[in-house]
Amino acid sequence: MVHPCLRCGACCAFFRIAFHWSETDPSLSGTVPAELTEKLDPHRVVMRGTQSKQPRCIALKGTIGEAAYCGIHPIKPSVCREVEPSWEFGRHSPQCDKGRIAHGLEPLTPEDWLDPSNDDSPPLPQSG
Ligand code: SF4
Ligand code: SF4
Repeated sequence: MVHPCLRCGACCAFFRIAFHWSETDPSLSGTVPAELTEKLDPHRVVMRGTQSKQPRCIALKGTIGEAAYCGIHPIKPSVCREVEPSWEFGRHSPQCDKGRIAHGLEPLTPEDWLDPSNDDSPPLPQSG
Protein backbone atom coordinates (compact mmCIF):
# COMPACT_ATOMS: atom_id res chain seq x y z
CA MET A 1 0.00 0.00 0.00
CA VAL A 2 1.28 3.47 -0.86
CA HIS A 3 1.14 5.60 2.28
CA PRO A 4 -1.72 8.12 1.76
CA CYS A 5 0.57 11.05 2.60
CA LEU A 6 2.70 10.17 -0.45
CA ARG A 7 -0.33 10.85 -2.65
CA CYS A 8 -1.24 14.04 -0.79
CA GLY A 9 1.03 16.73 0.71
CA ALA A 10 -1.96 18.99 1.35
CA CYS A 11 -1.15 19.92 4.95
CA CYS A 12 2.30 21.14 3.81
CA ALA A 13 0.54 23.68 1.60
CA PHE A 14 -2.10 24.94 3.99
CA PHE A 15 -0.74 25.74 7.45
CA ARG A 16 1.89 28.23 8.58
CA ILE A 17 4.63 25.95 9.87
CA ALA A 18 6.05 27.82 12.88
CA PHE A 19 8.36 26.45 15.57
CA HIS A 20 11.07 27.49 18.04
CA TRP A 21 14.28 28.74 16.41
CA SER A 22 16.37 26.28 18.43
CA GLU A 23 15.20 23.52 16.07
CA THR A 24 17.45 25.11 13.44
CA ASP A 25 20.53 25.34 15.68
CA PRO A 26 22.79 22.26 15.47
CA SER A 27 24.56 23.28 18.69
CA LEU A 28 21.20 22.78 20.43
CA SER A 29 20.51 19.49 18.60
CA GLY A 30 18.37 21.31 16.05
CA THR A 31 18.03 19.50 12.72
CA VAL A 32 15.99 21.76 10.45
CA PRO A 33 18.18 23.54 7.84
CA ALA A 34 18.12 27.22 8.84
CA GLU A 35 18.23 28.31 5.19
CA LEU A 36 14.79 26.77 4.67
CA THR A 37 13.31 28.97 7.38
CA GLU A 38 12.69 32.65 8.05
CA LYS A 39 12.19 34.60 11.24
CA LEU A 40 8.63 35.00 12.52
CA ASP A 41 9.24 36.67 15.89
CA PRO A 42 11.99 36.69 18.54
CA HIS A 43 11.20 33.11 19.50
CA ARG A 44 9.95 31.42 16.36
CA VAL A 45 10.85 30.75 12.76
CA VAL A 46 8.64 29.45 9.96
CA MET A 47 9.29 27.15 7.05
CA ARG A 48 9.79 29.35 3.98
CA GLY A 49 6.75 29.48 1.76
CA THR A 50 4.23 28.81 4.50
CA GLN A 51 3.41 32.46 5.22
CA SER A 52 2.22 33.16 1.70
CA LYS A 53 -1.41 33.72 0.73
CA GLN A 54 -1.17 30.40 -1.05
CA PRO A 55 1.18 28.58 1.27
CA ARG A 56 3.48 25.79 0.17
CA CYS A 57 6.44 24.69 2.25
CA ILE A 58 9.75 25.04 0.46
CA ALA A 59 10.63 21.47 1.45
CA LEU A 60 7.56 19.92 -0.17
CA LYS A 61 8.40 17.98 -3.34
CA GLY A 62 6.02 16.79 -6.03
CA THR A 63 2.41 17.48 -6.93
CA ILE A 64 -0.25 17.82 -4.27
CA GLY A 65 -2.94 15.16 -4.50
CA GLU A 66 -0.87 13.01 -6.85
CA ALA A 67 2.63 12.29 -5.63
CA ALA A 68 4.22 14.41 -2.92
CA TYR A 69 6.72 14.02 -0.12
CA CYS A 70 8.70 16.01 2.43
CA GLY A 71 12.22 16.63 1.15
CA ILE A 72 13.55 16.78 4.72
CA HIS A 73 11.42 14.04 6.23
CA PRO A 74 13.99 12.62 8.70
CA ILE A 75 14.87 16.08 10.02
CA LYS A 76 11.59 17.94 9.69
CA PRO A 77 10.28 20.27 12.45
CA SER A 78 8.53 18.91 15.51
CA VAL A 79 5.21 20.46 14.48
CA CYS A 80 5.26 18.43 11.29
CA ARG A 81 5.97 15.21 13.15
CA GLU A 82 2.96 15.91 15.37
CA VAL A 83 0.42 15.99 12.51
CA GLU A 84 -1.30 12.64 12.23
CA PRO A 85 -2.95 11.53 9.03
CA SER A 86 -6.60 10.80 9.74
CA TRP A 87 -7.22 7.22 10.88
CA GLU A 88 -3.63 5.99 10.66
CA PHE A 89 -3.79 5.44 14.41
CA GLY A 90 -7.54 4.87 14.59
CA ARG A 91 -8.59 8.46 15.07
CA HIS A 92 -9.67 11.43 13.06
CA SER A 93 -7.15 14.28 12.56
CA PRO A 94 -8.69 17.76 12.14
CA GLN A 95 -5.46 19.15 10.65
CA CYS A 96 -5.26 16.43 8.04
CA ASP A 97 -8.91 16.84 7.08
CA LYS A 98 -8.62 20.64 6.85
CA GLY A 99 -5.57 20.44 4.60
CA ARG A 100 -7.10 17.88 2.30
CA ILE A 101 -10.45 19.67 1.99
CA ALA A 102 -8.66 22.95 1.18
CA HIS A 103 -7.03 21.20 -1.77
CA GLY A 104 -10.22 19.55 -3.00
CA LEU A 105 -9.33 16.13 -1.63
CA GLU A 106 -11.72 13.93 0.34
CA PRO A 107 -10.75 13.43 4.00
CA LEU A 108 -9.11 10.06 4.60
CA THR A 109 -11.28 7.23 5.94
CA PRO A 110 -10.34 4.04 7.82
CA GLU A 111 -10.64 2.21 4.48
CA ASP A 112 -7.70 4.20 3.10
CA TRP A 113 -5.47 2.21 5.48
CA LEU A 114 -6.59 -1.22 4.34
CA ASP A 115 -3.91 -3.04 2.38
CA PRO A 116 -5.48 -4.82 -0.59
CA SER A 117 -2.64 -7.39 -0.52
CA ASN A 118 -3.93 -8.49 2.90
CA ASP A 119 -7.33 -9.40 1.49
CA ASP A 120 -7.89 -12.98 2.65
CA SER A 121 -11.49 -13.24 1.42
CA PRO A 122 -12.16 -16.34 -0.73
CA PRO A 123 -11.71 -15.93 -4.49
CA LEU A 124 -14.79 -15.33 -6.58
CA PRO A 125 -15.99 -18.32 -8.64
CA GLN A 126 -14.74 -18.25 -12.22
CA SER A 127 -17.38 -18.21 -14.95
CA GLY A 128 -17.17 -20.51 -18.01
S1 SF4 B 1 -3.08 16.25 4.76
FE1 SF4 B 1 -3.12 14.28 5.83
S2 SF4 B 1 -2.81 12.71 4.25
FE2 SF4 B 1 -2.20 14.71 3.42
S3 SF4 B 1 0.03 14.78 3.77
FE3 SF4 B 1 -0.99 15.82 5.48
S4 SF4 B 1 -1.26 14.24 7.06
FE4 SF4 B 1 -0.81 13.19 5.11
S1 SF4 C 1 8.95 20.44 6.50
FE1 SF4 C 1 8.19 18.70 5.36
S2 SF4 C 1 6.46 17.90 6.57
FE2 SF4 C 1 6.89 20.01 7.28
S3 SF4 C 1 5.53 21.31 6.07
FE3 SF4 C 1 7.50 21.22 5.00
S4 SF4 C 1 7.26 19.56 3.50
FE4 SF4 C 1 5.64 19.35 5.04
